[in-house]
Amino acid sequence: MNTDKRKVVLIGTGMVGMSFAYAVVNQGGICNELVLIDVNKERANGEAMDLNHGLAFAKSNMRIYAGEYKDCKDADIVVIAAGVAQKDGETRLDLLQRNTEVFRSIISPVVKSGFDGIFLVATNPVDIMTRVTYELSRFGASRVIGTGTSLDTARLRYLLGDYFTVDPKNIHAYVIGEHGDSEFVPLSQVMLATKSVTEILEDDKNDYKIEDMESIEEQVRTSAYKIISAKRATYYGIGMAITRIVKAILGDENSVLTVSAKLCGEYESKNVFIGVPCIIGRNGVKEIVELSLTDSEKEKFQNSRQVLEDSFNGLEL
Ligand code: NAD
Repeated sequence: MNTDKRKVVLIGTGMVGMSFAYAVVNQGGICNELVLIDVNKERANGEAMDLNHGLAFAKSNMRIYAGEYKDCKDADIVVIAAGVAQKDGETRLDLLQRNTEVFRSIISPVVKSGFDGIFLVATNPVDIMTRVTYELSRFGASRVIGTGTSLDTARLRYLLGDYFTVDPKNIHAYVIGEHGDSEFVPLSQVMLATKSVTEILEDDKNDYKIEDMESIEEQVRTSAYKIISAKRATYYGIGMAITRIVKAILGDENSVLTVSAKLCGEYESKNVFIGVPCIIGRNGVKEIVELSLTDSEKEKFQNSRQVLEDSFNGLEL
């Protein structure tokens, strides 16, 4: 008998949710049961049919079906990519309040099902929605994770790899803070293999320049806007980022990923959910990695934390 059941429930079968589902099916071996839930049941049904028709071409078999909240009971992970779009003239806080109502309609039935796994949130603004999930579910903080700056970090490593002509896998660099305008790159922590990039910039002034680092950071920060203006939404990259986090959890990898996690004194902060490098394994956030930031990086981090605090405090929960 196969006791290695790995079950994931996806709530929100829009572009982001289904990009994740498609990546899971194509990468293979990540989970063997995938349940799709959406307020639009017809859509979830159609998506399940469509994915099932591709299974014959997939690397490994899996069970995919449109389900109900009771199906969360024995799930390992509930991924949330459900959300509403911004209306004309609506403020960011209005949108946040409406998404909070969406989450109220989701978290309560998930918890009632007896779900005892890990929440992984992708809905924007992701750091706030992760904190909302934590507050509504009353789960332990290590079991409530947001995608945080995982995608931004992937974008950064791709751009740095291109700049230094090095495989991004050998670039160690993180985008931290809010997944949004106040995020930043602590340059003091960027490494090419084991050599720090600040040292490389110092040693090789002709080829590499600090201004280029600033430009790369700006490109990372604004890439979502550019993609949205070109094709209305971003979804493949985030779909693959969610897949990567799910794989780290189910594989008990202890991989370091920049997810949105609750700080409990790290980075001189408490309570806020914010993108920081974390060791991710079977039980969610195993440890928050505290980077040795410079004074100006600490200031940027506190600024980003404050942005998130202010947004969260404006919410009616
Ligand atoms: P979408 O409109 O295509 O999909 C949203 C889905 O949520 C729809 O299928 C809708 O029916 C469903 N939904 C709405 N209310 C629901 C409810 N009460 N219960 C269940 N399902 C419900 O949107 P999308 O492009 O897939 O984006 C989804 C979210 O992901 C947005 O908030 C977006 O901003 C966010 N996003 C996050 C990142 C990131 O890095 N974290 C990147 C891109 C997008």
